[in-house]
Amino acid sequence: MRQSQLFTKTRREAPADETAKNAQLLIRGGYIHKEMAGVYSYLPLGLMVIKKIENIIREEMNAIGGIEMKTSVLQNKEVWEKSNRWNDEVVDNWFKTRLKNGGEVGLSFTNEEAYSNILKQYVNSYKDLPAYPYDFKEIFRNEARSKSGIMRGREFYWKALYSFSKDEAEHNVFYEKAKVAYKNVFGRVGIGSSTYITFSSGGTFSKFSHEFQTVTDAGEDIIYVDEAKGISVNKEVYTDKIVESLGLNKKDLVEKKAVEVGNIFTLGTKFSEPFGLKYKNEKGEDNLVFMGSYGIGLGRLMGTIVEVLSDDKGIVWSETVAPFKFHIIELISENSEVKKTAEELYKEIGEANAIYDDRDLRAGEKFADADLLGMPYQIIVSEKNIAAGKFELKNRKTGEIKMISREEIKNL
Ligand code: ATP
Ligand code: MG
Repeated sequence: MRQSQLFTKTRREAPADETAKNAQLLIRGGYIHKEMAGVYSYLPLGLMVIKKIENIIREEMNAIGGIEMKTSVLQNKEVWEKSNRWNDEVVDNWFKTRLKNGGEVGLSFTNEEAYSNILKQYVNSYKDLPAYPYDFKEIFRNEARSKSGIMRGREFYWKALYSFSKDEAEHNVFYEKAKVAYKNVFGRVGIGSSTYITFSSGGTFSKFSHEFQTVTDAGEDIIYVDEAKGISVNKEVYTDKIVESLGLNKKDLVEKKAVEVGNIFTLGTKFSEPFGLKYKNEKGEDNLVFMGSYGIGLGRLMGTIVEVLSDDKGIVWSETVAPFKFHIIELISENSEVKKTAEELYKEIGEANAIYDDRDLRAGEKFADADLLGMPYQIIVSEKNIAAGKFELKNRKTGEIKMISREEIKNL
């Protein structure tokens, strides 16, 4: 992409009312636009990051048998009445609206009911199970707090998978696979070393749920981390008895602030019961389907990556989620060879892999923008170096600068 053709511009200051670092940097870089508290639009560069994250999650979900679909955002009141979650006294964060011809609809705040209702139409026999459908979707929650930028939105984009198993044993096998897939996701996006699988409250069907918590001061949760074992306990279940039952020792646990980037949860028959979601086993007997849920917030994950990896100059993307791997910076020169060389290099690397700063701006402004935008590698094309057939390569994360040939760029 040519930077001259990108309508978004960087800005020196974030809006005064924006207190979260992730949103401040992303707004300054032109990645997102703040519509109102807790509501953000994703601009071209921001959408590129979301798409990369989405693809990583999709690959990992498909690898464990997930199958993608799309549930509607507008939700049917009658479906939610079955599980008693339509009532505002039961669920306090619904967004609802009225239809012109009478009646109410809600905007999805979660997906259990929609999936249970759909699967009910298709699951009859043990041969129809297990099933692992999932979707990427906009979710709406009337959250009381919205001070964490894109980490806690009133409208946000998530992935939710639901597992439908014949019994608890079959469920447990998938649940363990999901843990590995989640670990892979957080590793691949670049925050694996600060993300811990965390024991959290589990509801009726299991003692615990598992959250994936990333350590950051921007987080709203408190966890107790055992560094050596790579696991942690959420404050909500942190008691002497539970710590002991997990084979942990309080003196090895360190209190940290963290954000929940994903969670996996055993639902059991909580939803299959009210929806009458049953199957016939080999003997022809009716059994309730055993369910689990597996969520990841993509916006929250993007915000967390910014919080964890950024530095005082701006954003630092990992290669796997950066909009572009390279930022080609042409230092404007009277010597026409500079532009020619930069154009050639851009063509060679390809528009999918590079953003090319071809704008008529001072070097200092270009450098500051490139640091703020956070592509992993900056390649500086200047009069000084083209004569030697070399480019200056800066690693955004380490700040290391070295001279590099066109050939060597190919091998990066
Ligand atoms: P939290 O405890 O942080 O409020 P939650 O437990 O309500 O989150 P779930 O309903 O389990 O979250 O949603 C699954 C995932 O969706 C979470 O792990 C998180 O990554 C993401 N998520 C939840 N709420 C938001 C939000 N308001 N904005 C952005 N992402 C969110
Ligand atoms: Mg939670």
